[in-house]
Amino acid sequence: MKIKPTALIIGAGFTGCALAYDLTLRGFSVTVVDRGEICSGTSGRTHGVLHSGARYCVNDPEAARECIDENIILRKIARQCIEFNRGIYLAILEEELAYKEDFKAGAEKCHVPARWMDPEEILSLEPKINPKVLGGFEVPEGSFDPLRLGLAFAASARNRGAVFLPYHQVEAVRVGGSGQVDQVTVLNRHSNQPVQLQADITINAAGAWAGKICSLAGVSVPVVPSPGVMVAFEKRMSDLVLSRLSLPGDGDIIIPQRRMSVIGTTSFEVQDADYIPVDPDQVDAMVKRAVEIMPAIKNVNIRASYMSARPLIQTGSDVRSLSRTFKCYDHEADQGLRGFVTITGGKATTCRVMAEKTADLICQKMSMTVPCQTGEMELDSYRTFYHQQAAQ
Ligand SMILES: Cc1cc2nc3c(=O)[nH]c(=O)nc-3n(C[C@H](O)[C@H](O)[C@H](O)COP(=O)(O)OP(=O)(O)OC[C@H]3O[C@@H](n4cnc5c(N)ncnc54)[C@H](O)[C@@H]3O)c2cc1C
Repeated sequence: MKIKPTALIIGAGFTGCALAYDLTLRGFSVTVVDRGEICSGTSGRTHGVLHSGARYCVNDPEAARECIDENIILRKIARQCIEFNRGIYLAILEEELAYKEDFKAGAEKCHVPARWMDPEEILSLEPKINPKVLGGFEVPEGSFDPLRLGLAFAASARNRGAVFLPYHQVEAVRVGGSGQVDQVTVLNRHSNQPVQLQADITINAAGAWAGKICSLAGVSVPVVPSPGVMVAFEKRMSDLVLSRLSLPGDGDIIIPQRRMSVIGTTSFEVQDADYIPVDPDQVDAMVKRAVEIMPAIKNVNIRASYMSARPLIQTGSDVRSLSRTFKCYDHEADQGLRGFVTITGGKATTCRVMAEKTADLICQKMSMTVPCQTGEMELDSYRTFYHQQAAQ
């Protein structure tokens, strides 16, 4: 009998779950560990915009192209998680109107479909938008349900044999004499007992914690945990995703999420992604920005304000300007550590292609030629993740 190659994935956010699905389809025996539940890191606390790439089309074209390509694929394979509500990039100030031509040129270059709408059309679609609106671009954005997206990938992986071990925290990574990762020690947080795991390849998909996992293995990645605040209002104020027509900035997106409207976000740098207090000044700033887009929102109660941290790749000094693209690190090639790969950066919208590129690298390292199949088939129902667990 042919023995399957084994993969151990650290982190069950979007990236780890999408990778588990891809690797099971390529014939791997996959185990995923997370110190919490599925999507208990950043993925469960994301804004939920299915990006079209429009946000990045002027200053970050690589990320913009990745977003529009994956937007099209996710609409096919993850329909169960997405509300196809479209988005508008609104010019409310003169300076935003002045950005129109740059945006149009960027969108064309990155093949992001964008249609100019005059104020009358915008207000007929979304009457609560600031009546001073000067126009805006319609783009193919949407709202996705974060938990369902993570679970749909996880269910699709589990239904093909992947094993998920939530509440298993990685505490040590042992490197053998040949320079190969030969054992990972995880703490079972239910029993408080250590468990030793072995695999042919270990993948660090720990998001904003990727740097910490690397340090356990004696290597490094330039990941900057970059948090952002989001404020949820108790009422759904629009059906479309509303963004400002400008370079990405603080508080420039209001997204409808079920019966709520969520404004976000900020971007700054922290050393420790585990403790990020919600700064009341940032919440006030978000509310102010939301009122600029929709004046009536000032009368709506706040339901919650919360934080999470992006895993951004350090390429410069200002976190707002860091690219939203992703990178896969082969630690054998760059630091001489065998059997250990890190995938980090990116967006929720691009998690499938992040998994594809990582699985391509792993297959290449293991001299396997199995093509990626995740762009073709619709994901299994997110509900089947817990069905199967109940049946065990
Ligand atoms: C404020 C904000 C808004 C965003 N909005 C959007 C958006 O609208 N659209 C979009 O496309 N993207 C958005 N993003 C980006 C997106 O949310 C992230 O890129 C994505 O969630 C990262 O997923 P991940 O799986 O790489 O990381 P995570 O979801 O953080 O997963 C990493 C996992 O590793 C686990 N882990 C950590 N340490 C250990 C350990 N020692 N042992 C075991 N497990 C461990 C964690 O528990 C966690 O579950 C946003 C990000 C932020 C911060």
